[in-house]
Amino acid sequence: MKKKILSIVLTSALLAGIAYQFKPTDTKAATKNLNLHFIDVGQGDAIYIKTPNGDDIVIDGGNKAKGDIVVDYLKKQKVKDIEVMISTHPDADHVGGLDEVLEAFKVKSVYAPNVSNNTQAFKQFLTAVKNEKLKIKPVTAGVKLNLKGVSAEFVGPVKSYSKSDLNDWSAVLKLVYNKNSFLFTGDAESKSEQDMIKSKKDLKADVLKVGHHGAKTSSSQAFLDKVKPKIAVIGVGANNRYGHPTNDTLNRLKKYKTKVYRTDKNGSVVVTSDGKKITVKTEKK
Ligand SMILES: [Zn+2]
Repeated sequence: MKKKILSIVLTSALLAGIAYQFKPTDTKAATKNLNLHFIDVGQGDAIYIKTPNGDDIVIDGGNKAKGDIVVDYLKKQKVKDIEVMISTHPDADHVGGLDEVLEAFKVKSVYAPNVSNNTQAFKQFLTAVKNEKLKIKPVTAGVKLNLKGVSAEFVGPVKSYSKSDLNDWSAVLKLVYNKNSFLFTGDAESKSEQDMIKSKKDLKADVLKVGHHGAKTSSSQAFLDKVKPKIAVIGVGANNRYGHPTNDTLNRLKKYKTKVYRTDKNGSVVVTSDGKKITVKTEKK
């Protein structure tokens, strides 16, 4: 009975347009934590962020075949709708699963760099965006996301690159929650890293989503010197044919005594921040 009354109250709250404070699914908002989920999708990236205000952000969706894993993961996290979807760049191991996410959830905005790819995976993504009646908002350095409780600004791509450098087009997001900061680099390589350094944006971050799955062509020493990460997360498949992550990258990360987590060894990685302290939980030890 009580439940029924509560649901009536909530329904009228929704009707009154003050659903914000009463959103029944926002139980995590009360704890005022920021949660980052680096979902294990094998070789590729898929990241889910729940902001302290209860907003949902998805960055990349893994390969086409991994879309259902991402959808299931988001459903387990009780995601109802997605405020911000970001496709870092149009490579299949990032954009491939996003069409399934678009079909499964109400998505309110989609961000992607202004570059295309002539692949099936990218075309399906564009079709799914169209079916949701959305228009892609182009990402360049300086674009900000309008979210409460956190500051979120793209620091890359600083420039346009050639179509053969799709990785350098990657949307790079810097997220700040109180004293903690996070950098999501997509597959940005050293050319883009150099341009971000030259742009003089503050790149410092406690947590770094390592660029391009730990390839040696990303995470240059000059870039890491600016980021100074305490925690690094690598989205990578076990025994992948690219040899990711490379020892070069892992060794460069050692300079800052960075604690490295990888989805091939740790499974999905969940990073939680209360605005001051960061804790990490992994699916596997
Ligand atoms: Zn990739």
